[in-house]
Amino acid sequence: MGGLKSVASNKQKFPRKSNRILQQNEFRLLLNSRAIEEFSWLKALLQEKENKEHPYLTKNDAMVLPVEHQHFLRNFRNDLITTASNEWTCDKGYLEDHGGRGTGGEWPYCKLCNTPNRYEFCIVNRENENRLNVGSSCILHFGIDTGGRSIPQMKRDAKKLRREHEVDLQVRDVKRLVTHWDNHLNSYPILIPDPHDGDYRELGKQFRSCFEKYTDPKSKHNATDLNQTVSELKRLLQESKELKEKMAVYANTHENDQFVVTRDIVKWVQRLDIRESRLIFNSLKKDGHIIAPTAHRITEPGFMQSIVQKLNDQLRNISLQVQNIDTDQPGYILATTDKPVIALVISHRNLLLAVGAAVFDNKQSVERSEVIKHCKIANDRSRDIVRAKFAKALADRFSEPSLSDDFENIREEFNEWVLIDNSSQRIIIVEDLASVLDQYIAGDLDEEQFVRNLHGPRVRRYKRDEFQELYSNRIHNR
Ligand SMILES: [Zn+2]
Repeated sequence: MGGLKSVASNKQKFPRKSNRILQQNEFRLLLNSRAIEEFSWLKALLQEKENKEHPYLTKNDAMVLPVEHQHFLRNFRNDLITTASNEWTCDKGYLEDHGGRGTGGEWPYCKLCNTPNRYEFCIVNRENENRLNVGSSCILHFGIDTGGRSIPQMKRDAKKLRREHEVDLQVRDVKRLVTHWDNHLNSYPILIPDPHDGDYRELGKQFRSCFEKYTDPKSKHNATDLNQTVSELKRLLQESKELKEKMAVYANTHENDQFVVTRDIVKWVQRLDIRESRLIFNSLKKDGHIIAPTAHRITEPGFMQSIVQKLNDQLRNISLQVQNIDTDQPGYILATTDKPVIALVISHRNLLLAVGAAVFDNKQSVERSEVIKHCKIANDRSRDIVRAKFAKALADRFSEPSLSDDFENIREEFNEWVLIDNSSQRIIIVEDLASVLDQYIAGDLDEEQFVRNLHGPRVRRYKRDEFQELYSNRIHNR
């Protein structure tokens, strides 16, 4: 049977009316489908009928055909139509609503059944790329693939599109205005604070709601609704234009302010998780500048860089200065300005909580201990300096033995401090030296407390040979 793919009996699907073998829509569908190419005699017959008589095929038309062709039409007519139907699919991008009766629009005729339709669909043939504009009843009749969407849904979409188009003819670019209303706020080099920011967004909400009320395909309305909608949209646009002028003036006036919220800071805040982002925006939008209560949350690199000078103005008074910014941490490397120079690391958050009020509001003086207590020692060199200082303070009770290079390496690897108790000559191993030194420099641990800890009952005291054995084993097991 040539290219017929489906041979399943399908006699119920395309019932014959009266004395016709092929209805007008079936006749035209076949003529535009690839399946008919397999049956040149039928194609020639249909073309001749269409040109000279009528676009359908009757029993009388068939009676003059050779017996085998009559047999084919009798038994395979439905299969042929099914095969042809399967070649077609709806063009998702094409669907037009020509308006209800009485709106003056003309309804186009279905290219298959020749009846006028308000909703005009387009079907495409996957095999030969033919296109036909048709009504929904033919789509249903042939069971044409709609890509999973229902006909009512597609009609609603078309209705919505038509209404959007009606508005767009009078309010240019209305759809883009609705969708991207708030984007305008991003066009300023700095954050526009409230009330302008809030007022502008509110206008956008009203604009959208007015537009959607009209274009909602479920809402019923008459011709005057369009005029009302258009005049309301135009009124809102005029209002937004005035507001834009005010915002432009604000941006020009404040663009170079100190601590102003730059566009980079805004982008940085937008990348945060939604809760944090909202919290910060609410604060920033109050006056468009960064203030002490928010500064510790803002670790945008440009902002961190911009406040170094101001930080140093305060830190100088307590013999500290910013040496480097660490945007990864994010925090700062501080250096003591008194000798010996110790490098310290502190988070942006902790430094700003300690000095923010002084930097942003000039309110209070900064206590060195308030900063130092949040610092950690930044590197090995500074750690050695602090260790030497601590050892000196302990000198009357404990001393540092000189260790062989191997033992010194092990000590460093295990982050330990080896001390000799001067009175008993026993050796004590202090664990986690780095953290001990951090506590010492931050003022959380003084010599007295440290000594008391070393005298505690759980602190093990090694004889020299025990210590030798312990460290030798560690070297051996390395
Ligand atoms: Zn039709």
